[in-house]
Amino acid sequence: MSEYNPCLDCGACCGYFRVSFFWGECQSAGGLVPDDLVVQINPTRVAMIGTDAKPCRCIGLDGEIGKQVACTLYANRSTPCREFEASWTHGVYNPSCDAARAHYGLAPLTPPEANEPHWPDDDGAAVA
Ligand code: SF4
Ligand code: SF4
Repeated sequence: MSEYNPCLDCGACCGYFRVSFFWGECQSAGGLVPDDLVVQINPTRVAMIGTDAKPCRCIGLDGEIGKQVACTLYANRSTPCREFEASWTHGVYNPSCDAARAHYGLAPLTPPEANEPHWPDDDGAAVA
């Protein structure tokens, strides 16, 4: 099965949101995320370095947003990264995906099988 993955030429969410999670996801606590890639933000939570500041860009992101990107710790990424899915993955709309893409001037994703556009009209409109 070779399915187009829109994230590979996007990466906008890795340069838009603060990626924070319970410190127990770090390797020193038995989790997956390398400790040297996070910063403590409160007694129980850490954030990916680079996502807790402006301009936002996760330390783990390689490449150019909107062109070609890769997560350098993909197998070890945190829960929020695993749970954040591109719009229309499994048919589910994700307005946060649209928001991140819009920040970088990228058009919202459309349902793969859509023959005609049917934009959700509840969020900031993108002008094509
Ligand atoms: S903003 Fe959406 S399409 Fe872009 S990398 Fe994130 S989930 Fe994928
Ligand atoms: S760890 Fe990977 S998937 Fe998560 S924000 Fe950073 S680059 Fe993106």
